[in-house]
Amino acid sequence: MKTVSVAIDGPAGAGKSTIARRLASQLGFRYVDTGAIYRTVAYFMDLWGVSPKDADGVNRYIDELTVGIEYDEDGLQHMIMNGMDVTGDIRTQDISQKASLISAHACVREMLLDMQRDLAKQYNVIMDGRDIGTVVLPKATVKIFLTASAEVRAKRRCEELLAKGQKAKYETVLKEIQQRDYQDTHREIAPLKMARDSIKVDTSEMNVDEVVAEILKIVQEKAGL
Ligand code: C5P
Repeated sequence: MKTVSVAIDGPAGAGKSTIARRLASQLGFRYVDTGAIYRTVAYFMDLWGVSPKDADGVNRYIDELTVGIEYDEDGLQHMIMNGMDVTGDIRTQDISQKASLISAHACVREMLLDMQRDLAKQYNVIMDGRDIGTVVLPKATVKIFLTASAEVRAKRRCEELLAKGQKAKYETVLKEIQQRDYQDTHREIAPLKMARDSIKVDTSEMNVDEVVAEILKIVQEKAGL
């Protein structure tokens, strides 16, 4: 079966996961959150006390890690680290920063590449991340680059954290977002950048419904749905 794949790339906090989840449910596609996979690696290294900047340490411990993805009946993605469900544990600001550093190592990216490609071969997917349209699925049916100003993204992330009962100071969140933007766009391997054939959607002035409607239209046109 030929599958349809929608790649959604963009910086932290652009709304990728919210939009991708909604699109997946409307289209009946599987939502693959690739950031969660890198977060799982970061969480594993953290448990072993390996600094995310320590290339030798990451290289040494990576073979001890098995990453699994499972989906529950609601289509919710669960991350399985060596048989343990860590879905809830990887959503902290600390792990966000560490995932950004961990994801720069070649051994980490190589280990996760086939896993992401296999999912897109098996299912119709909405896959979000940083390098989906450029590296993971260069032949994706549709490529979207979702972005917004750093200030808008920081404001949204603060609201999200507060809603979850976590502490959030705007200035700190903004600084962390800017730092992640820098790391993600300046790394040597698979940096965050817009693919040539990607369609840019700036969500700074748009609400979720508007973004979903716009991307849905693009997907329906391009995929002939
Ligand atoms: O999307 P999320 O914020 O969960 O991603 C966490 C980190 O994982 C990002 O800052 C980025 O460095 C890394 N990542 C990546 N490639 C992807 C998805 C995420 O390098 N495809």
